[in-house]
Amino acid sequence: MTGELELDDEAITASAQGGDTIAAVATAIAPGQGSVAIVRISGPRAEAIGARLFRAPGSQVWDTHRVLYGHVVDPATQERVDEALLLLMRAPRSFTRETVVELHCHGGLVPVQRVLELVLAAGARLAQPGEFSQRAFLNGRLDLTQAEAVSEMITARSRRAAQLAMAGLDGGLQRRIGSLRERLLDQLAELEARVDFEDDLPRLDAAAVVAALVAVQRELEALVLEARQGAALREGLRVAIVGRPNVGKSSLLNRLSHRERAIVTDLPGTTRDLLESELVLDGVPLTLLDTAGIRPTADAVEQLGIARSHEALASADAVLLLFDLQAGWTEEDAALRNLVPEGVPLLLVGNKADLIAPDQAGPPPAQSESVATSPDGVISALTGAGSDALVQQLLRRCGAGDGQGLQVALNARQRDLAREAATALTGSLEAAEQGLPWDFWTIDLRTAVRALGAITGEEVNEAVLDRVFSRFCIGK
Ligand code: GDP
Repeated sequence: MTGELELDDEAITASAQGGDTIAAVATAIAPGQGSVAIVRISGPRAEAIGARLFRAPGSQVWDTHRVLYGHVVDPATQERVDEALLLLMRAPRSFTRETVVELHCHGGLVPVQRVLELVLAAGARLAQPGEFSQRAFLNGRLDLTQAEAVSEMITARSRRAAQLAMAGLDGGLQRRIGSLRERLLDQLAELEARVDFEDDLPRLDAAAVVAALVAVQRELEALVLEARQGAALREGLRVAIVGRPNVGKSSLLNRLSHRERAIVTDLPGTTRDLLESELVLDGVPLTLLDTAGIRPTADAVEQLGIARSHEALASADAVLLLFDLQAGWTEEDAALRNLVPEGVPLLLVGNKADLIAPDQAGPPPAQSESVATSPDGVISALTGAGSDALVQQLLRRCGAGDGQGLQVALNARQRDLAREAATALTGSLEAAEQGLPWDFWTIDLRTAVRALGAITGEEVNEAVLDRVFSRFCIGK
């Protein structure tokens, strides 16, 4: 074979840093799909393994941050396993800050698996989920919020969720939390100095310390509130559409998802399955659950559907209760409303507005007594009138509306820690209020600083890291 690279394994290994070498398929694995698959190798033996398995014809130069064309070869048999590109990124100029070799192979299951097997046989170990990102974190390439943003970027289900992840990757969250932590550390330093050397230092302005702590606490509380919007953007909302048979649930679902998923018929009780529809409305991923009309029935199939409706109600982040404007608000509608679990945002929506005179929009007066409030929305699933406003209102009620300006958003782990920090600050502020000595202020303040440090990863133990990174996919 021409142009075989003559590289000295020993020399490469000697120049490499310590630790073991990991490898994994970095791209999604789907049979028959994806034209390119990447096997990623990171660690001290990455370069030697790449050199051992790759043959580059001609006078191509083996150097860092250059792409080589060639073949992956089984060193035992010299069989060409795949035609590929090799990209070498020597430490520290790589994602993990270790030496990384990427083999860009043909997509599909067989070639990439064979290449990975050869890489493992040549001395790499299969990476754990998230292990590349974990190394990037441990080697100081990313803080913990950025590492988490990597995973959030990969799993983003909407453009806005991806934008939030990008802000996290850029370090937006790290800077925000980092500066709050710095402000607390400043106060902590002043207080601790007074604990030890009160007499040697200028008098500490207690009111100024309190003001500083309150300001940080407010910002943390705002971040905790905004996390709800972030969660809606990332994870999406499950919205159950309930209503008596024939009020137009399937029609609304079709209208919102712009496709014929549910079967629309004139026969009451025909929506027997719980239909799920995934869509993105105003940047928020929604799972709409269409349910069978909940009502007493002897029909076994229909009863099954009804049981599922109860499940849908139990798992929903919000409920749209549809009623027929022409029929007005009925006792059955009121009974349905009582099934909605406490605390779940509920919107009462009058449908078939096209069938009634405009001035009648709203439940007819005779029946309106049983509606505690006027309907939250009046729509026509048939014409689409009112459906945009309904979506806006739904997102607002779920805390997901007006999230356009959301710059950063805490994930659940980060939110819990921010909440812990805010609560700890309440402890410090209580000590202040009671006029207790400085060291009483510092106890909770230190807890708050630690909690914020755990968000960015400055103060974090191995168990937490394992939990964070084990949620990643393999190869990231
Ligand atoms: P579901 O049983 O609640 O899912 O109701 P469907 O969506 O199957 O609708 C029952 C019937 O009402 C169908 O014939 C629909 O075309 C009709 N329908 C639904 N929404 C409207 C509407 O806004 N206006 C009118 N005029 N008819 C509607």
